Amino acid sequence: MILDDAYFMKQALIEASKAAERGEVPVGAVVVCKERIIARAHNLTETLNDVTAHAEMQAITAAANVLGGKYLNECTIYVTVEPCVMCAGAIAWAQMGKLVFGAEDEKRGYQKYASQSLHPKTIVVKGVLADHCAQLMKDFFITKRKK
Ligand SMILES: [Zn+2]
Repeated sequence: MILDDAYFMKQALIEASKAAERGEVPVGAVVVCKERIIARAHNLTETLNDVTAHAEMQAITAAANVLGGKYLNECTIYVTVEPCVMCAGAIAWAQMGKLVFGAEDEKRGYQKYASQSLHPKTIVVKGVLADHCAQLMKDFFITKRKK
């Protein structure tokens, strides 16, 4: 088993599928520290009635609890869809070592509105399993429209 970006993105995709099953917009995230997953989360904005309950926000909080420190500079966050401005801000505050995301989000993604918002030291990798990540979103919105 190779613990590469694709492997961890698959784990984030599993989280995204869990969100879809609950009727939540399917976005999943995992935080990895020293090749170990220390936090898993998926979008829960409907379940919690909380617009801030994005996968990344919860994963960051959970990871900081596990590590017992607020800075995640030795961690990588994998998220299936490009973070929004709020989450990019949180990733910056956490001084995340690396951000890996799958599909781009042209409507709400941070790159368009706040491309400078990440911490300058955060390494960014885009497009990992992007088609798979985007397909989950497409399928979700197609089924939602049919209902
Ligand atoms: Zn977000």
